[in-house]
Amino acid sequence: MSELPTYGFDTLQVHAGSSPDPSTGARQTPIYQTTAYVFRDADHAAALFNLSEVGYIYSRLTNPTVGVLAERVTTLEGGTGGYCCSSGHAAQIMALFPLMGPGLNLVSSNRLYGGTVTQFSRTITRFGWETRFVDTEDLDSVKAAIDDKTRALFCESIANPGGYITDLEALAKIADSAGIPLIVDNTSATPYLCRPIEHGATLVVHSLTKFLTGNGTITGGAVVDSGKFDWSIDGKYPSLASPEPAYHGLNFYEALGSMAFTFHGIAVGLRDLGMTMNPQAAHYTLLGIETLSLRMPKHVANAEKIANWLEQDDRIEKVTYAGLASSPYKNRAAKYCPNGAGSLFTVAVKGGYDACIKLVDSLELFSHVANLGDARSLIIHSASTTHRQLTPEQQEAAGATPNVVRLSIGIEDPEDLIADLDQALAKAHS
Ligand SMILES: *Cc1c(COP(=O)(O)O)cnc(C)c1O
Repeated sequence: MSELPTYGFDTLQVHAGSSPDPSTGARQTPIYQTTAYVFRDADHAAALFNLSEVGYIYSRLTNPTVGVLAERVTTLEGGTGGYCCSSGHAAQIMALFPLMGPGLNLVSSNRLYGGTVTQFSRTITRFGWETRFVDTEDLDSVKAAIDDKTRALFCESIANPGGYITDLEALAKIADSAGIPLIVDNTSATPYLCRPIEHGATLVVHSLTKFLTGNGTITGGAVVDSGKFDWSIDGKYPSLASPEPAYHGLNFYEALGSMAFTFHGIAVGLRDLGMTMNPQAAHYTLLGIETLSLRMPKHVANAEKIANWLEQDDRIEKVTYAGLASSPYKNRAAKYCPNGAGSLFTVAVKGGYDACIKLVDSLELFSHVANLGDARSLIIHSASTTHRQLTPEQQEAAGATPNVVRLSIGIEDPEDLIADLDQALAKAHS
């Protein structure tokens, strides 16, 4: 899908998927604020509905602005196809939807964004899908959890809330020998820090809401397909590789090969589930991605400085960040995230729950919000907010116990951020 395969990352983040608007010459990708598109004639309309010609029908399926974004994210991830959706959580459902069915299961890392734990352990059971959570440090338990009803293995590259780097190649090997796709949520890393497809991922999902947009303005998601998986394997993926009744009996894999997953996602998934991204949101995300490679090094440099400062402070029990020399995942970070381990990490504060609450309430520059990956530095006390729905065991696995706050370091002056933490820690311990 990438039209500029020989250019470097910085060039692609500005250009991939876009060209001057053919009718006006507009250089920036226009916001195509339209619901529908006029067919040239009845034959054209029929060809579009047959998927024998690619074009625009209705913005629940595709939109030119959203399409540029899908191609840009796909190119940066090194995929063959992809599409956008209304949020990161929508992207997760969209990625699983063609693979799963009642009675089937996915095996997932237990180190996940809190909302994903809830989505996987509660909400998707209403579809008859089951999630088997595993500790991905114990590869035997990952293998043991997979059975003939397993249709996907799921993990995060840099696992939210930071500090843990998943051994993607080890998981890809297990997924390969089980004949199932590895799905990697690459939200916390972005393709600037980690490119999961190069390490064996089949599908990459994103919350575009976070670093890719980078300024806390929208919600969005994306699913990118490596194009490498054989969906006809053992008859396990009938929606993709046998006649799909929801699309007049089309066998997507036979007809579309490495683009089968992408076309199914648009023609069936977006059409019928309707988790569509709007063109305004795509516009903000495109603007954000243009400066991804300028922002991420600053996020990383600030995170490293602040994590090191906190680690030596005696009001702090522990800092969990894979970019620290003390991290058990330092070598894995160097392998999978050579440009840095991101800017999310957790801090265990002496004084427990009460000190965390005081710290959060005393900060002036840091904002107390349920978000991450913003240009602004953010903090949240996960146990009383994002991870509140989880059991104590789930909180422990997710690194979100009551004495822990999660920081998402922005791109401000690190000295100012350290001064803010210093004064708030003083209040938390007074
Ligand atoms: C935020 C986030 C999500 C969910 O994305 P939304 O856009 O909020 O729906 C999923 N995974 C990770 C790692 C996230 O940080």
